[in-house]
Amino acid sequence: MSVPPERQWQRAVAMLTGADRVALACHVAPDGDALGSMLALGDALRSRGTEVVASWGGEPFEVPAAYAFLPATDLLVPPWNFPAEPELFVTLDSGSPDRLGTLGDRVRTANCTIVVDHHATNTRYGGVHLVDDEAAATAVLVAELVDRLDVELSQDIAAALYTGLLTDTGSFRYPSATPAVHELAARLLATGIRHDLISRAIYDTAPFGWIELLGQACATARLDVAAVGGLGLVWTVVEAGDLAASGLGLADVEGVIDVLRVAQEAEVAVVVKADPIEGGWKVSTRSKGAVDVGAVCAALGGGGHLFAAGFTSDDDDADTTLARLRAELEAAPHLPT
Ligand code: AMP
Ligand code: MN
Ligand code: MN
Repeated sequence: MSVPPERQWQRAVAMLTGADRVALACHVAPDGDALGSMLALGDALRSRGTEVVASWGGEPFEVPAAYAFLPATDLLVPPWNFPAEPELFVTLDSGSPDRLGTLGDRVRTANCTIVVDHHATNTRYGGVHLVDDEAAATAVLVAELVDRLDVELSQDIAAALYTGLLTDTGSFRYPSATPAVHELAARLLATGIRHDLISRAIYDTAPFGWIELLGQACATARLDVAAVGGLGLVWTVVEAGDLAASGLGLADVEGVIDVLRVAQEAEVAVVVKADPIEGGWKVSTRSKGAVDVGAVCAALGGGGHLFAAGFTSDDDDADTTLARLRAELEAAPHLPT
């Protein structure tokens, strides 16, 4: 699976231009690509006169503070007010219906579903698929869709798309930040958006509680150079109590993995986070290129990309979850780097 065939683009454009109402959903606990892609497409469709609602099927239903600058947030409706049987349903950045949380059933009840995504693990659960596992972000596919819909690239749409590009390429540091990605970024910047303010909002702004939480997570981090078949593992656990003490939500813990993965002795970095709302654990994994953590997490019921992936677990304690993950990592083949 690679670039979507021309026929799929044509069908998607015909459906989107023909529909009076479109309902958009992205994955639960949305990140910059999920939110940015969804709101960019929502804004573009609205500018054509389409009635648009957008949502995600999980709590908290609140735009994370880091993404509060995003445009078109007035399109958001809570999942309990989302149409039960959408005329046209579009999912963004979601590899499978379960990633849509409580909105996953709309794949069955909608008249038609368009899937816009870049996960290699995408299960092709819709009627039309704009799926490209080589795209750096779902935002890349939405940018093409906006062009094909003949919608002018406004600053609002550009800011939302840039957010998806920025966050899914790790600020243009991952191999996925190809020349074409930089060219798209240049096009977005040429609209006059304040990319400096976008980066500051996403990466360089947090309450002091985040510094304390990071301190705690780093102080309790562990390194095992013998793990992952000798490639090395660094990990930490963020307990519910740590989160409560910091006054932060789960979405605010996202940045911890980016600090942990700096450890040069470890190929794989892991953060196990207690989920204060659903219970259980959310696990984030990153590798530097020698281990397919997407496959490892898929084997544990989650998914993601080659080098950035996650899963959830209902284990009583984090150690049990870590033991299951470590066993999978031990068995994972080492990729040529
Ligand atoms: P995160 O560590 O939460 O930033 O997630 C890294 C990547 O893994 C993203 O592409 C997510 O979409 C994906 N991912 C995280 N958690 C899950 C999950 N429970 N199931 C499927 N994919 C996931
Ligand atoms: Mn995502
Ligand atoms: Mn993405």
